[in-house]
Amino acid sequence: MKRAICAALFAALLLCACTPIDKGDGSSGTSSGVSSQGESGVGAAVDKTDKIITVPSEDDPNWALFLVNNYNQLPDDYVPQLSPVTKEQSFHHKAADDFKAMLADAQAAGFNLYVVCTYRTIEYQKNLLENDIQKRIKEGLSSEEARQAAEFNIQKPGKSEHNTGLATDIVASWSWYEQNDYELTESFDQTPEFAWLSQNAYKYGFILRYPKDKEAITEITYEPWHYRYVGKEQAKLIKDSGLCLEEYMQTQK
Ligand SMILES: [Zn+2]
Repeated sequence: MKRAICAALFAALLLCACTPIDKGDGSSGTSSGVSSQGESGVGAAVDKTDKIITVPSEDDPNWALFLVNNYNQLPDDYVPQLSPVTKEQSFHHKAADDFKAMLADAQAAGFNLYVVCTYRTIEYQKNLLENDIQKRIKEGLSSEEARQAAEFNIQKPGKSEHNTGLATDIVASWSWYEQNDYELTESFDQTPEFAWLSQNAYKYGFILRYPKDKEAITEITYEPWHYRYVGKEQAKLIKDSGLCLEEYMQTQK
């Protein structure tokens, strides 16, 4: 039993990085092939310049509404205050009660959601990337080739939503996860638990962060298991808008 849990934790650490989609030639800007082809047309306006973001003050009513992605990086010293939400996982302290309420209400409705992953430190992300680079150098790549290959697979420190303390990977149940070989796969969207989350997550302040029809804009493959806390009011507005967070943030300027 203990071994199974260790295996699961190991798998979770590996898999909750959230996978960037193939960016073609890997170059930046308009030649990437994904920059101006958003189905809605809003994608063309999404800001793709690299920057270090300013995280809103926790006193701000929209304190959880900020964008972290490949172009918008958290400051190196960003460390959220955390509160436990399950026996193993903690979440941003200002969103923890909403998170726990969502898990409790899902359970009351007959759905045992299993939280695979929540917060990861920027330091952890750095180590993950550095270990991958070193592994590739040992396999014979030059240090530059190794870095490029590693950065294609692992999000850079400060650019993963899991560094915010406001993102979580959730699946149907422990047994679903076990039967799925501790992998996060698209088949999760065939479960009743996913249907429940689709209908209810926004009521607790969460949005599905990487929708299927927005891959060209988010540059992250469809992830039915990854939810981001933005606050209840904003989650409803975003859900009603049909926009992904990149597009929605453009409308807030
Ligand atoms: Zn995730």
